[in-house]
Amino acid sequence: MDEAGMNAGTLGLLGGRLSLDFANTADWHASDHSVESLTSYSDLVAWSQHVGILTDHRAQRLLKEAARRPVDATAVLERAIALREVIYRIFSAISHGHPPQAADLATFNAELSGALAQSQIVSTAEGFTWDWAGAEDALDGMLWPLVHDAAGLLTSEELDRVGQCADDRCGWLFLDTSRNRSRRWCSMEDCGNRAKARRHYERKRAVRRGARAK
Ligand SMILES: [Zn+2]
Repeated sequence: MDEAGMNAGTLGLLGGRLSLDFANTADWHASDHSVESLTSYSDLVAWSQHVGILTDHRAQRLLKEAARRPVDATAVLERAIALREVIYRIFSAISHGHPPQAADLATFNAELSGALAQSQIVSTAEGFTWDWAGAEDALDGMLWPLVHDAAGLLTSEELDRVGQCADDRCGWLFLDTSRNRSRRWCSMEDCGNRAKARRHYERKRAVRRGARAK
């Protein structure tokens, strides 16, 4: 478990969308033995730096603040994981053509209200963009862009491109940007190859069984 947590800052980002990568911070998510990547508040900070929603400067400030307020930091970690599970279940259901659970949507909306209360529009050289008031020091400031991204995806035309890895234990979510919407695996190198190897093995076994039956 600890070993997995150390990887939070280097996790593969295969989701194609911030909120889906967040959902993928547990490995073997669809199995009964998922492996947690966010095992501490500092893991959450490391992952947030990794995906670019926290600058190094802000990350350092938050880690200092977390050291001063460990109970609050742990509460934020627990909230982050609960939010991640809700996002995972909502998009997992949608990827299979099912509506999400009402309770999950309610939890999601409670987090969204909190994030929207902090949201503001700022003017930059490239135009206007979303920003978060008070995010500099808020221990939970990294949750706001995550929930905002998930809300954006839920209401976008890309929603029907959300898919889930065809490996029945993996469960990783992704945005299928292939032209004919044929993406089946989180990664061809990982789950895709494993499935290919398994098919190859099963074919060989079937051939051998056939030979023996003769
Ligand atoms: Zn997979």
